[in-house]
Order: sequence, then C-alpha cells, then structure tokens
Amino acid sequence: MTWSVWRVAPVVTSIFFILGVFTLYVVLVDWLKSKIRLKYPEVREHTIESWFGVIYILVFVYSLQLGIAGQDISWLFMNFQLIAVIFCAYFLAIHIPFKAFLPIVVLFMWINSSLSYWESWTYSLAIILFYWSMNYVYKWSQKHNYVFLVYFTTGTFFGMILWFLVKIKFSLSWYIFIQEISYFLVFQALLYSYIRMLNKNQRLENNLARSAHHDALTQAKNYAAYMTEVSDLFQNSHNNKLHLSMMMFDIDHFKHINDTYGHLAGDKVLQHVVDVVQTVIDENDSRIQLYRTGGEEFNVLFPSYDLEETQKVVPQIFNALNHLGIDFNGQHIDFTVSIGVSEVSKKDDDPNDFYKRVDANLYHSKDNGRMQITAK
Ligand code: GH3
Ligand code: MG
Ligand code: MG
Repeated sequence: MTWSVWRVAPVVTSIFFILGVFTLYVVLVDWLKSKIRLKYPEVREHTIESWFGVIYILVFVYSLQLGIAGQDISWLFMNFQLIAVIFCAYFLAIHIPFKAFLPIVVLFMWINSSLSYWESWTYSLAIILFYWSMNYVYKWSQKHNYVFLVYFTTGTFFGMILWFLVKIKFSLSWYIFIQEISYFLVFQALLYSYIRMLNKNQRLENNLARSAHHDALTQAKNYAAYMTEVSDLFQNSHNNKLHLSMMMFDIDHFKHINDTYGHLAGDKVLQHVVDVVQTVIDENDSRIQLYRTGGEEFNVLFPSYDLEETQKVVPQIFNALNHLGIDFNGQHIDFTVSIGVSEVSKKDDDPNDFYKRVDANLYHSKDNGRMQITAK
C-alpha cells in the first residue's frame, strides 16, 4: 500500500512495518521456545532467540532485497537493513565472527549485482564495523548509564557514513540523503523504546508466571507447576516412548518439629530441604525438577530416566537430607525423610496412575519405620 492508495505517508507505513516485523518475531520466538522447552529443556533461551533471530532477519532482508535488486531503487530498504543490524547486534546481542559475516554480505552484493563496485565493498565493511560497534555498545550498556545517548550516537554515526556511500553510488540528491537519515534516526529511537517496552512487559509477565508457579516460602516450583509439567511429560513419554520417573518424599514427624521448635523452625527446615535437594540436582542433571506439592511433601520428576537410572541420584538426595539437620536459634534440629520412587509403565492411562504407585511406595517407606527408600 502506498500514499496514493491509503493516504498514509510512507514513513508511517515504514514505522508500522518495522514494529510489525519485531512483534511477529517476539510472538514466533515465544511459541518456538515453549515447543523446544518441552522436548529439549536443556537448550538455553538465548540460543533459541539468537539462532531464530538471525534466520528470521536474514529471510526478511534477503527476500525484500530480491524484489528490488538490480534496479536504481535497490537502496529502498536500506533503513530496514540498518535497523535489522541494530536489532541483531544490540537487542539480541549476537556476536557474528568475520568468517560468518563475509558470506552474508557477499551474498547480499551478489543479489544486487554489485560485487564489482568499490562503494559496495566499502559499504559491506562499514556494515560489519557498525555491527561490531553495536555489539560493543550492548556490552558497555550492561555496566553504564547514558545508554540511549551512546546507542543513538553510534547508530547515527554509522547511519551517516553508510547513507553517504549509497548517496555516491546511486547519485542521490542531498534532499533524499537528509530525508532518509532523518527517517533512520526516528526508526532507531522508536526501536529502542519499543523493544524496551516489550522487554518490560516480558519481565512483568515472567515475574507473574514465576510467582504463579513457585512457592513463596521455599522458591521451589509449586503444585500448579507440578500438575502442568507432569501431564506434559507423561504425554511426551507416551507419545515418544521415553522413560519418566518420579520420586516423592515427605519429612518424617514434621508436626513434632513444629510442636517442639515452633513453626519458624519448621519453615527453616523446609527452605533448607529445598536448598539441599536443588544442590544435588544441579550437581547431577538440570533436567531433573523439584516441586513442593504439599506442606512437607515434595515430588521430583526425572525426565528420560528409568527406575534404575534414578538410583544414581535418589540415594544422594536421601543421604544429603538425612545427615545434615539445621541450626536454629542455637539449637540443632535433626530430621529424616521417607521416599517413594517409581517409573511410568505402559499400563498407566494418566499421570494419576503413575502418581498412585509413587505415593504407595512412599507410604510403604512410612509404614516400615520411615527414613527409607522404596523403589519399584
Ligand atoms: P509423618 O512422618 O507421618 O509424615 O508425620 P508428620 O508429622 O510429618 O505428618 P503430618 O501430616 O501429621 O504433619 C504435617 C505437618 O506439616 C502439619 C503442618 O502443620 C506442617 N506444615 C505444613 N505446611 C507447613 C509450612 O509451610 N510450615 C510449617 N512450619 N509447617 C507446615
Ligand atoms: Mg511428614
Ligand atoms: Mg505429609
């Protein structure tokens, strides 16, 4: 759509185009992260954002350019390309080494049939320097104030150099040069505030999601998180024939601890239990997840583990908990736990069938003198 059809100035359409491209990126990457998290929980979010970000931006840049390559207006999407550079280098903070950059810019020049122009080679070199400078500004911004000023000045400096090279190559008028630079300044300021706004919303959303899925006392994942994740993992284990095991533990005679030392001491024991179990998990395998599912009851999910494999980790948790105790107001409080463990079987129709077996094993440990593990 153009000015003549919609009566909207091209700069306004460009603004909405740029914002639309980045909004679509945020929506798609969120969707992708939720899919990947389920299947490959060990993959880091930043890795997904970076890889998807680079591919997404390159697809946009190349496909837009293919439509106008070789024409006198082949500079038409240049401001979008500069904004794309800032997005990848500053906002996604992806570092691209020279050997990966070279094919990207050479392919771009090849699309434009401009491999024989010195202006294009200088332009490509300047783009790489622009990219690396924005990377550097990002790193710098982590520890300093006046971030926007440095971001804006760097962008403006390179924007002017790059537009000047394009002005020479395409013999553009000073009028177009100044107009395009002004648009670029508006776009880069807008991108900055827009991404900051999206990130702020994302942070707020993350905080809300965190408190909805975490227990306030111990910071372990809560019952709601357990319900969602056990049903996802159960489904996944059925669909993909993957193992899944669960351990459940309950603090022995916890009521007695509360009655003897007070509820604050009981709370401290619960926090200590979570710290200890999480430390053991971190030393073993980050896929293992701990949940506080009841007052002094906890569940641990072991994705891809069969019963035998859990026996590398479960005794470590058991020993760590039973032999430490805590010091509270000058008194030493010892406590023990009872454990039940089981794995998903083909006969389980839903997560509750699996859960019932783990629960029965925990009760078996309780009924047989406590402070023991029942795994079957
Ligand atoms: P058993 O060995 O059979 O598990 O005995 P128990 O005393 O641990 O079990 P019981 O179910 O009788 O008591 C659990 C106690 O846990 C009762 C409740 O007051 C206490 N409790 C539950 N949530 C919390 C909490 O957040 N903080 C504290 N301090 N106590 C809690
Ligand atoms: Mg108990
Ligand atoms: Mg209990």
